[in-house]
Amino acid sequence: MSALVWFRNDLRSLDHPALTTACTDHQQVRAVYLLCPQQLDEHGIAPIRRHFLRRALNALSEQLAALGIALDIINAEHFKHVPSYLHDYCQEHDIRDIYAHKEWLVDEIQRDAHCAEQLAIPLHLIDDSLLSPLSIAKADGLPYKVFTPFSRRCRDVLMAQFPRVVRRPAAKPALENSARTPCPHFGEEKDSSTWPVQEDEVLQQLREFCAERASDYQQHRDFPALDGTSRLSAALALGLISPRQCLARLQQECGDAIWDAKSDAGTWLNELLWREFYRHVAYHFPRVVKGQAFQTYTDAIPWPNGHALFNAWCEGRTGYPIVDAAMRQLKETGWMHNRLRMITASFLCKDLHIDWRWGERHFLENLIDADFASNNGGWQWAASTGTDAAPYFRIFNPTTQGQRFDADGDFILRYLPELKGLQGKYLHQPPASDNYPQPVVDHKTSRNITLALFKEIRD
Ligand SMILES: Cc1cc2nc3c(=O)[nH]c(=O)nc-3n(C[C@H](O)[C@H](O)[C@H](O)COP(=O)(O)OP(=O)(O)OC[C@H]3O[C@@H](n4cnc5c(N)ncnc54)[C@H](O)[C@@H]3O)c2cc1C
Repeated sequence: MSALVWFRNDLRSLDHPALTTACTDHQQVRAVYLLCPQQLDEHGIAPIRRHFLRRALNALSEQLAALGIALDIINAEHFKHVPSYLHDYCQEHDIRDIYAHKEWLVDEIQRDAHCAEQLAIPLHLIDDSLLSPLSIAKADGLPYKVFTPFSRRCRDVLMAQFPRVVRRPAAKPALENSARTPCPHFGEEKDSSTWPVQEDEVLQQLREFCAERASDYQQHRDFPALDGTSRLSAALALGLISPRQCLARLQQECGDAIWDAKSDAGTWLNELLWREFYRHVAYHFPRVVKGQAFQTYTDAIPWPNGHALFNAWCEGRTGYPIVDAAMRQLKETGWMHNRLRMITASFLCKDLHIDWRWGERHFLENLIDADFASNNGGWQWAASTGTDAAPYFRIFNPTTQGQRFDADGDFILRYLPELKGLQGKYLHQPPASDNYPQPVVDHKTSRNITLALFKEIRD
């Protein structure tokens, strides 16, 4: 009789409460990951993310083997088949208890409910979040809809009870039928090898950031040419590292400064809390991850959705250098700097007048760190349709954003070599030439159209 640890977006062995609990309570432990490639196809998950996931599963399998635990990777095709695959697996391996971490998105909650109904054995769902969406509520018991009071409350809760990082369990004698098989390919892939998947490498990335760059975070984080942020989003999205580990390391390096929201370390903690906030919103208002706006009245906006403009945006040929360099960064590397995500998202909705859902989908199809809740939250923020939405009349000017955050064009020239030789104003507003497009829209005119679109439905 064995226990089973069901891995999902928590592909690590350190600070893994479900794994540690299973190992403490049972002599024999197996592990499983249920691949759902059809589900990934439906959501348009990026080829680079698939490669990253496959590598992460192989790394986890190695790590678990060293603990005497076999990881079986099963192709279940789709969420809807998961309960029956899990049922058969448990019968075959004489499993008596299943341990997994709670997930908070609506499809995942339904999948787990179906499993719990159909399995004849207990499914123990353990909370692995930094702050469970159930543990943070306003004084009236309702969920938060605004980030700043939410983050204040989170700090109070974390300060009162600093979350503990759970140790890796001790190794067990390996089971007899536990040969390791590499994770199969499951769809088109793009090389992700510059992103580490081994736990110790990811931890090293965290240590380096906290020791060397966290103290300059506020000063550097908005400048895409600098290495000012942690680049841990891909690892956090697959759970190669937990937000508890991030918080613990940050506190070790920066001490009590982390509780001051205006300090560098406190600002980084704030970013981790944005991640929590969007989970909180997606759990309490599940319509947002089902294609609906948080501000429901904005669903009536008649976005013109020009296909040619959308294609120009995707391909990085809008004639606005900061937008184009950012979109090419996404296409080439599968990642985009946060400031640029804000600029490009605002540009798509408020300059090109394209529905934010198109942009949300395009990001999912390209990002290595795609995360439903954070991506949705970021898009709805930029489109002024979300919780903490930027007011609809606050519209980024793509030219001045470029001048402000990439004045000398160090970032722009990395991705738009055709602009080499241009300086100052011309770098951000290039003169007509054969090798770079003229702006596809006029920002001032576009701005007025956006104001009219929002005003019409508000009125
Ligand atoms: C339109 C748009 C789409 C986005 N899509 C995603 C997405 O799919 N996946 C994703 O992880 N983040 C997303 N973000 C948030 C943010 O851009 C990235 O998390 C960040 O750029 C990752 O870089 P980093 O790891 O160096 O971040 P750091 O600045 O080092 O921040 C540390 C961690 O905090 C979290 N974080 C930081 N900023 C945010 C934020 N604004 N919202 C939520 N979490 C945050 C991330 O997990 C990040 O790794 C999106 C933002 C916007 C505006």
